[in-house]
Amino acid sequence: MPANLKKSLSEIYERCQSLEGGAVADYIPELARVDPRLFAIAAVTTDGRLFELGDSDAAFTIQSTAKPFAYAAALREFGLESVLARVGVEPTGDDFNSISRLDRSKRPMNPMVNAGAISVCSMLHSAYGDTGEARLLEFFSDFAGEQLAVDSVTYASEMETTDGNRAIVYLLNKFRNLQAPPQAALDLYIKMCSIQTTVRGLATMGATLANQGMHPVRKRRVLEAAHVRDVLSVMLSCGMYNYAGQWVFDVGLPAKSGVSGAVLMIVPGVMAVCVYSPPLDGSGTSVRGIAACKELSQRHRLHLLDQTDLSIGEIND
Ligand code: GLN
Repeated sequence: MPANLKKSLSEIYERCQSLEGGAVADYIPELARVDPRLFAIAAVTTDGRLFELGDSDAAFTIQSTAKPFAYAAALREFGLESVLARVGVEPTGDDFNSISRLDRSKRPMNPMVNAGAISVCSMLHSAYGDTGEARLLEFFSDFAGEQLAVDSVTYASEMETTDGNRAIVYLLNKFRNLQAPPQAALDLYIKMCSIQTTVRGLATMGATLANQGMHPVRKRRVLEAAHVRDVLSVMLSCGMYNYAGQWVFDVGLPAKSGVSGAVLMIVPGVMAVCVYSPPLDGSGTSVRGIAACKELSQRHRLHLLDQTDLSIGEIND
């Protein structure tokens, strides 16, 4: 764990609090009603310690930060090869809800964009049937170490306005890339996005990924380490959508953002950090979320490719 993590987090929290800019997502009417001033950070270490700051009791819907965990569920149910046959691992460079790339590629490019996540949900529906919501909740709750639930108001709100995702699911169906009836796949996807949590809950889910798939407090395995590697790989290359290249360059860690304003960042073997602040930039990512993660990574040299502390002198001697 980085030395002075607590001090760093509170300094970063203070600094980011003065950051203005961005706009709360309003294409899901219920998200537009949220207080844009809410701001919280939580870090959970792989040895189970929790640091939290700000509005850490504020509940929000998980939105796209659910996608890595849905991918994990599919890997567990079907194995990597079968999942890869349905969904790739290439970044799109497009918006998270883009349909144009799918029209050309036929197979979703990766599981972190809507098309890929909806395809993954169709696989999960084929495995779980009508128990899909309950099974997914159980799996996500195992990551969180607490019982999670779907926020039915946000679910209903998104269902009313989700024509873009409806178009995606029918296009997937046209390409025979759906394992469930379109309505059932879409329903499971929107329910999954509407699972409610807090920065504590989401950081704990992330810490389970940071801890090779073992829950950091319960010390129970939730996911095989090989699947954890696959999940973190797509988070690193595709988790931040059309901002993914810049993110890897600046921050260098697996992460996932969601339009509710959450950013989840994993420091493998060390901890997970979750930032919640609803105003979003043009890529659909929390403005303060990006700033806080970037500063934390740079301060503690958490970038996975950072070698500035390594000396090659010994090798040359
Ligand atoms: N439920 C949202 C959608 O499908 C999730 C998108 C996101 O968080 N980026 O549009």
